[in-house]
Amino acid sequence: MTWLRAVVAAGVFGVGSLALGQAPQPLSAIPYSPSLDLTSLDRTVDPCVDFYKFSCGGWQKNNPIPADQAGWSVYAKLGMENQQFLWGILQQDATAKNRTPVQQKVGDYFAACMNTAAIDAEGIKPLQPALERLDSITTRERVAGALALLHHRLAGSFFFAARVGQDAVDSSLEIVELGAGGLGLPDRDYYLKTDPKSVKLREQYVAYIVKLLGLAGETPEQAKADADSILKIEIALAKSSLTRVERRDPHKTYHIMTVAELSGLTPEIDWQRYFAVQGAPGVAKLNVSQPEFMKAVQTELTTEPVDALKAYVKFHVLTSAATYLSAPFREANFDFYSKTLRGVPAMPPRWKTCTQAVDRSLGEALGQEFVARTFSPEMKAKTQLMTEQIEAAMAQEIQGLDWMSPETKVEALRKLHAIRNKIGYPDKWRDYSSLEVKPDDYLFDAEQAYLFEQKRNWDKLGKPVDLNEWGMTPPTVNAYFNPQMNDINFPAGVLQPPLYDPREDDAPNYGNTGATIGHELTHAFDDEGRQFDAKGNLRDWWTLADAKGFEDRINCVRDQYAGYVIVDDIHINSKLTSGEDVADLGGTLLAYIAWKKQTAGQDLKTVDGFTPDQRFFVGMAQWACENDRPENQRVQAATDPHSPGFARINGVVSNMPQFARAFGCKTGQPMVHVPACKVW
Ligand SMILES: [Zn+2]
Repeated sequence: MTWLRAVVAAGVFGVGSLALGQAPQPLSAIPYSPSLDLTSLDRTVDPCVDFYKFSCGGWQKNNPIPADQAGWSVYAKLGMENQQFLWGILQQDATAKNRTPVQQKVGDYFAACMNTAAIDAEGIKPLQPALERLDSITTRERVAGALALLHHRLAGSFFFAARVGQDAVDSSLEIVELGAGGLGLPDRDYYLKTDPKSVKLREQYVAYIVKLLGLAGETPEQAKADADSILKIEIALAKSSLTRVERRDPHKTYHIMTVAELSGLTPEIDWQRYFAVQGAPGVAKLNVSQPEFMKAVQTELTTEPVDALKAYVKFHVLTSAATYLSAPFREANFDFYSKTLRGVPAMPPRWKTCTQAVDRSLGEALGQEFVARTFSPEMKAKTQLMTEQIEAAMAQEIQGLDWMSPETKVEALRKLHAIRNKIGYPDKWRDYSSLEVKPDDYLFDAEQAYLFEQKRNWDKLGKPVDLNEWGMTPPTVNAYFNPQMNDINFPAGVLQPPLYDPREDDAPNYGNTGATIGHELTHAFDDEGRQFDAKGNLRDWWTLADAKGFEDRINCVRDQYAGYVIVDDIHINSKLTSGEDVADLGGTLLAYIAWKKQTAGQDLKTVDGFTPDQRFFVGMAQWACENDRPENQRVQAATDPHSPGFARINGVVSNMPQFARAFGCKTGQPMVHVPACKVW
């Protein structure tokens, strides 16, 4: 145990030295902190009154939000340490002699991004040809016609979005999916709410638009007139967009149409030509996820003045490119999207921006470098075993459910057994050999990376689904379940201390990473996931009574979480978060069962005054420690399907009699929720 304490002390020293304001440095190893951290506790709080505060109060005090962040958390901190570590790798890869092709690409991309002197010297020049082409347009028809090439070449959000993805009803097919888009604010609700904060934010958004158009050479008067037209178009699009809660229902976003039928909705766009430009000339049928939205696009394209449409496109070209352009553009973008919208006081240092840029554009190239240094075969084997144990616990739970019929259980178990576990990194790395990267032309690199990704996506059409594909890069500190692939994915980045800690024993690890694995697994059966079957197809495999039994249980969780306040008078929108809330609750229970089985017959000791069960729960709670800015909390409340950390912990443990027993909590205390909600 002394060895462990020494490590804890080292972790504290690391945090302290950062707090003293020393500039972060590239790292040659990810700093260690344990999965159960005594310094993160606040022992003045009664665990039966506020378990989150008890587990995380110290962490909150020791970890103020860095000036360049909207919020801060155990996940974000590990994410930043991963970035510092990647920064070290990228510096080497940028300058080393005799580089591998992978090192050349990530190193040169990083070097080009870091060269702000070259980027600043260019000003708006790199965008000039695109803006001139746009300027020469004189009719609405030609604005509509330009969308094909804009979508093909630029990352901006121009009216709608098109991509290739799995067909919801037959997941073995890759089809075209047309989605809503075209907004510069984070959600449709931002355009429609009438409270003073929302009204003010729209004014600030208009000011941002004016600023960008001014930087691109417009007079203040012209820019203001254009900004008003742009906002008007976006409001119209927002009104016709589904809400986030509506979008959780996969039936609401599934409308297979022929191209002829789509042309009926939006005749202003020549769809044959549109798909040909994307490199997919033969498209016959597709999913138009929001038909009403496409009607609104038609209305906008045919009723707004041509100058308003041009201004809208111009602004979206500028705002999507702003972070790749010279300092005034980057600063304007930061001032609105980070400072105003999320309350972030300071711009992130360039190394951070550039490390993230490489991760975004060349994630599986940089990921190879990351995995080789951080994720040993032993860690892979152990976390794989833990995943299988948690799946076994889920099978056992399903079999024991008293509210589910035998027919539905058969289907549920079939689905569970079909889930594929993807741990750490892809079996086969993405091949970037066709992507050209120059060490001295950042906008070129960014464009090429975008084109590479576009081609990769559109090339999927008509091919079998690549089951090896990952939706997150290996250094990412996050995990996901994909209902159509029917797989759970845990990047190497999320399987590092303090989340998965090879130096700690099972209790905090099953509490922390085990609960995360259980969380992702439970997504296969949440409000959204349960609508897909073992093959990843949208098919109702529930009897009516079982579906109702399930909804009743979810409603218990919805009612509970709707009572939590995020910030000011804003409550959790638990219709948006219930999928995540149920995953937290189910995941923790599964991890607990798996841990009990894994340690059965072992003589588990009390450590640092905590019983084994208490250590499981403290380890669990400490993944969620966080601090958040109120501005960011407002954005999260509107857009994030996850509840804030305190609710994710207190909401779960208050439903678990295992927790009440571990800490001796009694009915009537806040951490005992009556009636206890239980889904799985
Ligand atoms: Zn989740």
